[in-house]
Amino acid sequence: MNVEKKHFTCVICPLGCEIDVELQNGKVVSMEGNKCQKGEEFVSQELEEAMRILTTTVSIKGAKWAMLPVRTDKPIPKRLLSKVIEQLATIELHAPVRMYHVIVKGIAGTDANVVATRNMKKVNHPKNAKKDLISRKEG
Ligand code: SF4
Repeated sequence: MNVEKKHFTCVICPLGCEIDVELQNGKVVSMEGNKCQKGEEFVSQELEEAMRILTTTVSIKGAKWAMLPVRTDKPIPKRLLSKVIEQLATIELHAPVRMYHVIVKGIAGTDANVVATRNMKKVNHPKNAKKDLISRKEG
C-alpha cells in the first residue's frame, strides 16, 4: 500500500490554515488542521491542479503612474503563473483605463481574463514621462 503525507497552507481565507493530509494510493484518508469545509475543497483542488488568482502590474503610458495593477478574474493553473507574468511584461497600455477593463482575454489559453483593478486617468504631464525627458537630456 502506497502511503504518503502532504502539507498544505489553505489560501482561501486570511486564516491560512496549515493542513496535514495522509494519502493511500493517491486517495485522502485523513485530514487535520482545516477549520472549515472549504479547506477540504482546497486540498482536493490542489491535488488535482493547483489554481491561483494572479495579481501583478502592467506598464502604462500617459498616466500619473508607470504601472497599472491588474489581476485575473478567476483562478488559473499555478503552473502557468510565470508564463502569464512574462506575457504581461511585454504589454504597454495607454491611459485612460477603467477599472475591470479587460487587458487580455483568455490569458495563456485559459478562460480567465486579465482585468484592471483600478481606474487610471490620462494626464498631460505624467511623472514617468518627466523622468524619461530628464534621462534623455542627461544622456
Ligand atoms: S480551511 Fe477554512 S478557515 Fe481555514 S484557511 Fe481555509 S477557508 Fe479559511
